[in-house]
Amino acid sequence: MAHFDFNRFYRFDELSTALHALAAKRPDLVRVASIGKSHEGRDIWLATVTRFASGEPQDKPAFWVDGNIHSVEVSASTANLYWLNYLVENEGTDAQVTRALDSRTFYICPRINPDGAEWALADSPKFVRSSTRKYPAALEGFGDAIEGFEPQDINGDGRILRLRIRDPQGHWKCHPKDPRVMVKRDPAEAGGEYFRVIPEGRFADPVHFDGTRIRVNKPEQGIDLNRNFPGEWRQEFEQLGASIYPTSEPEVRAVVQFFFDHPNITGAISFHTFSGVLLRPFGTQADTEMAPEDLWVYKAVGKKGEALTGYPAIGVYEEFRYHPKEVITGTFDWVYDHLGIYTWTVEIWSPMREAGIEKYEYIDWFREHPEEDDLKLMKWNDEALGGKAFVDWQPFDHPELGKVEIGGWDTVHFISNVPAERLEREVAKFPAWLLHQALMSPKLELRSTSVVALGANLWRVRVELQNTGYLPSTVSKRAADRKQVPPLLAQLSLPEGVSVVSTVGNSGASFGALPRVELGQLTGWSHKQSGTSFWPDTEPTSDIAVAEWVLQGPAGSEVGVLARAARAGAVRTSVRLG
Ligand SMILES: [Zn+2]
Repeated sequence: MAHFDFNRFYRFDELSTALHALAAKRPDLVRVASIGKSHEGRDIWLATVTRFASGEPQDKPAFWVDGNIHSVEVSASTANLYWLNYLVENEGTDAQVTRALDSRTFYICPRINPDGAEWALADSPKFVRSSTRKYPAALEGFGDAIEGFEPQDINGDGRILRLRIRDPQGHWKCHPKDPRVMVKRDPAEAGGEYFRVIPEGRFADPVHFDGTRIRVNKPEQGIDLNRNFPGEWRQEFEQLGASIYPTSEPEVRAVVQFFFDHPNITGAISFHTFSGVLLRPFGTQADTEMAPEDLWVYKAVGKKGEALTGYPAIGVYEEFRYHPKEVITGTFDWVYDHLGIYTWTVEIWSPMREAGIEKYEYIDWFREHPEEDDLKLMKWNDEALGGKAFVDWQPFDHPELGKVEIGGWDTVHFISNVPAERLEREVAKFPAWLLHQALMSPKLELRSTSVVALGANLWRVRVELQNTGYLPSTVSKRAADRKQVPPLLAQLSLPEGVSVVSTVGNSGASFGALPRVELGQLTGWSHKQSGTSFWPDTEPTSDIAVAEWVLQGPAGSEVGVLARAARAGAVRTSVRLG
């Protein structure tokens, strides 16, 4: 039985209640806590999911999933809730999920930006890109005065669509096969019936309308939280929405701080809408600039993602730039950029693919595409969605513009988000891929312990540890290069009367006579050559670390062992002398 309703979007109070209800019902698997407050003071909820009985969450490698940093992209929250539900519901019945909950921790932050989502889901909605904080700020003393044209719902149907205005100089005309579809005039064409098309809205202050010129206001809430992360952050004049300094916004600061407080995070997915694509770094450089070892992992995970989700996997710089000469900075990609943790941005939902437009270039398609694509979308609207996604043009007496028509695509509910009746089907595409990524993390486990008597009250204690995960204990080459992951440490806790005589670490290095020993980094098998490679594997046991101590103390003493690798988890055990 599902713990959430996947066929509609939750307002904040409902989301809070539903998350806490699940935590109360499954305290063995789910804890819910706030990682910070939004600009308007709402909690940013985070669910920690693991089998608590099998170890503390911080002692296991962890996988992060979030969503809804952009206000209108509420389908991203649904994808998070579906993932959370998937883990809880399949525990005990699905072997992979059960193993994952035993050995890994999942951090799920379904709504990074509760304020923006609340505005978008309000009865009288307001759509902003991200934060609801005013920025760049209106000048003190000038109140909310805005001079231009303000997008808003003016006919009270709860949607913000388009206005079309008849104008012999307009740039748009009706498609001959379907007059609802607006297409551009041919370059050399004149003398037809033309329109201007602008957002539904009105002048905030009609005194500023001169009867002709329309300038659509930029939103007063100009911050894009996904431009406020530390990675390659640039000022507003270079990067729209960046705000005043990296992590200046409380929502972003909460997420960044959480990552630094939880060095066990090994992978991260951020859900967005839309485009139906799996996006990976880099955003600002070509793939050739990435450490090849990391690019190979990214490509393999991408291929798996394509097979499991049906979405293509691409690099942002290579195939998803908004403008060929521009890049976007300060995004969630800082997770790979700074920390060397593999991260993906999932753009849920592709109306184009639903409409049968198979080959399309994500960003270029919006600039220009064949008119047949518009007809295909309209056919999809009519046949698959019962005509709900496109509102046919309706006459309206506009207070400033006179006779106009209101209509067009209901982008918020059918393009930017998955329509309710398809929502569950769409968000069900992701858990298998998320689980795959979580289970490829490094994972520290005990291989063996042994105690050998060397003489009177003298013992050799040997502890063997291994990385049972596919990825190395650093996760990536980038993390290793940037020194983001401290070495594996093993430490004895000695009872009274027991002392260390000598300590030997991995590869025979002497550590004097210390209870603590550094054991370096452990590989997984992500770097292994193919089975028909002619280069021999010269380090076939580089996933194993060995520590040895010579101890002096009475037989029967119990010696505690703690080993910890930041990204691979912790091992706790004990040995008995004699
Ligand atoms: Zn987004």
